[in-house]
Amino acid sequence: MLRRRLPTVSANWQSSHWQHRMPLCVVAMPTTAPGSRHSGSFKPPTSARVARIRARLREVYGIPRMAPHGDPLAELVLTVLSQSTNDRNRDVAYAALRQRFSSWKDVRDAPVAQVELAIRPGGISKVKSARIQAILRAISADPREPQRALSLDWMRCAPIAESRAYLTALPGVGRKTAACVLLFAYGLRDVPVDTHVGRVGHRLGLLPHRASSDQLHDAMLALTPPGAELEFHVNLLRHGRRTCHARTPDCAHCALARMCPARRLSA
Ligand code: SF4
Repeated sequence: MLRRRLPTVSANWQSSHWQHRMPLCVVAMPTTAPGSRHSGSFKPPTSARVARIRARLREVYGIPRMAPHGDPLAELVLTVLSQSTNDRNRDVAYAALRQRFSSWKDVRDAPVAQVELAIRPGGISKVKSARIQAILRAISADPREPQRALSLDWMRCAPIAESRAYLTALPGVGRKTAACVLLFAYGLRDVPVDTHVGRVGHRLGLLPHRASSDQLHDAMLALTPPGAELEFHVNLLRHGRRTCHARTPDCAHCALARMCPARRLSA
C-alpha cells in the first residue's frame, strides 16, 4: 500500500481531501544512461514488451494502491511546490502555506511577500509564490463553476481532454503537473512523466529521446494499458530512485537488466 502522509493543516480549511499524496514528481527532461541510444528512429515498444516490463516491475515493487484524494486544487499547488526540491521540503512548504492562510482565496489575495515567506522552506519561493498566485487568479478569472470560483472540482466529471487543456493553459502549468492533478486527485487516465519516469523510460526503450514534454506524455499514455496509470508511474519512479540512478545506474543489480537496451550497450 502506498501511503504518503501530508503535513497536518488547520481544520478551518474548507477542503479536507488531501491526506495522502504520491511521491514527488520533479519537472526535468530525462537523462540518458551510459550506452543508451540517441537515435532519431524510435520505435514504440510492442504491447508484449510493455507487459513484460510491467510484470517485472510488479515482481520487484508490487502493485501500488492509493485512493484518489479528490482535491485537484490542492494537488495543483502541491505540485508547483514540488518543483526543484525534495518531498520533505515540499511538504514543509505546503503545510506552512495552509497554516498561514485559511483559504485559497486568502492565498490568492495576500501580498506576494507573505506567500513567499510561508513557502520559503520549499526553495525558489519567489518564483513559486508568484506562480501560485497567478494560477489562483487565472482560475478565478475563468471559473467553470461560477458559484465556486476557486475550484477545480468540476474536473471530476468533465471530459479529460477538457480538463487537461484547462490545466495546461494556466500560468506555468505543463503536462506533468496536469497529469499529477488528474491522476492523483481523481484517478483519471494520465501518467506523469517526471525526471525518474522519463529517464527509466528512455533507457528501457519505452520513450523516445529528444522529445518534448507533450510528446513524452503522449507516448507514455499510448503505451500504458488503461487502469495501469498509477502503477506504471509509481513503479518506474521507484526504479529510477532505487536502482536506475541518473549518473550511476546499478545495472549489475537491476531486475530489468536482461530486457534493457541501455544495459546491453554499456556492458
Ligand atoms: S539495466 Fe536497469 S539500471 Fe541499468 S540502465 Fe537499464 S533499467 Fe537502468
